[in-house]
Amino acid sequence: MTANLLGFDLDGLAAFCERLGEKRFRAVQLLRWMHQRGESRFEQMSDLARSLREKLPGLCEVRALPVLAQQESADGTIKWLFDVGDGNAIETVFIPEYGDAGPPQGAVHPPRGATAAGGQGGAVLGRGTLCISSQAGCAVGCRFCSTGAQGFSRNLSTAEIVAQLWFAEHFLRRHLGHQARGLSERVISNVVLMGMGEPLQNYAALLPALRLMLDDHGYGLSRRRVTVSTSGVVPMIERLAADCPVALAVSLHAPTDALRDELVPLNRKYPIAELLDACLAYLPRAPRDFITFEYCLLDGVNDQDLHAEQLIALLRGHRGAGVPSKVNLIPFNPFPASGLRCSSRARVQAFAQRLNAAGIVTTVRKTRGDDIDAACGQLAGEVLDRTGAAQRLERLGRQTSPVPGDQAQPIVWQPRSEKNITPPRPLRSLPPEGAVAVASGGGRAPLP
Ligand code: SF4
Repeated sequence: MTANLLGFDLDGLAAFCERLGEKRFRAVQLLRWMHQRGESRFEQMSDLARSLREKLPGLCEVRALPVLAQQESADGTIKWLFDVGDGNAIETVFIPEYGDAGPPQGAVHPPRGATAAGGQGGAVLGRGTLCISSQAGCAVGCRFCSTGAQGFSRNLSTAEIVAQLWFAEHFLRRHLGHQARGLSERVISNVVLMGMGEPLQNYAALLPALRLMLDDHGYGLSRRRVTVSTSGVVPMIERLAADCPVALAVSLHAPTDALRDELVPLNRKYPIAELLDACLAYLPRAPRDFITFEYCLLDGVNDQDLHAEQLIALLRGHRGAGVPSKVNLIPFNPFPASGLRCSSRARVQAFAQRLNAAGIVTTVRKTRGDDIDAACGQLAGEVLDRTGAAQRLERLGRQTSPVPGDQAQPIVWQPRSEKNITPPRPLRSLPPEGAVAVASGGGRAPLP
């Protein structure tokens, strides 16, 4: 298979060009054409030497991921299901930002031409956050995560990680009318590695992807606007600090090792104290002066006042001085095999209040895209489970009920992605032509 140029950061592309006998500045030109202009056809890259334009096809290509499905939420969130081969699919979610009025009633995204300046009703600001996947499935197997319940299939390549951003950015630019109006500003202002997979367990592929996101010739995002979310792969947090210290979010979810061992099995290998030590070591290199801790609230499991007090003691007292922290409380999105329930709104508020009162900045994440299963922990495209996690979780669900007093219901495992999947189509509010940028050699795979 020919090389996919989406898999190179600047240094990698420069090395590729050198192997072709070309100078480094050609790599800069190629990067700009691909990532800033969304161009995949070498013959259109007009400032490349003709000889190079003729040489490249056959040696390499800009290969997009085939889109299996696209879903739009009433709140404007868009989810894409991409085919990564061998029966595996991954999911990518765009979460638009709106002005103070919020999304328009019954919004479809994006209202054509709506911008912050010229907004229609609750205006789309013409930017947003992209949540991307790093693996097909996940081996960590967090108890509350439907991706983890599917098990792990394989790591994504750098090209597959970048292709999600490349597709989303240029697809959205086209449909927001940026290109037609001669605008070059980005639509995607933040990237979070919070989709399917544990990014730090795919470090070799992740690192060039991060570098490309930060590169001024690529996406030019600031380090504060690229976030790696990890369940706590301690040695790789240290590597990330040295190699490419972007914003860090840690999936904590429990204040004690005993509870975290159950919810985030990786804790048995890297317990909380080691994880917080790694966070402290990360901070001097981090783009922000705090670490974000994600905490998914589970009814009766980790959401009691006692847990809030333990969390405060942990974050404020670790190694005497504590860890500068921001806590992001995430409402749980139930899925059948988990045997778990989400906390009540009152409990979430009480938990947040306790943390805030103790001086820990705490936010409650708004649920977005829940009508298309795009919310946190719900990214569950089809993957081939090579670990048996789904079966283990099903057994666990049958045997145990982690909710005190809960009568466990019989559990039938059904991958979430079987529902709501629709064939690829253009955004509802836009004309069908040119809806999907398909690179040479890429294209849509037939629906399974
Ligand atoms: S929460 Fe993240 S690390 Fe845990 S199983 Fe899900 S995808 Fe993997």
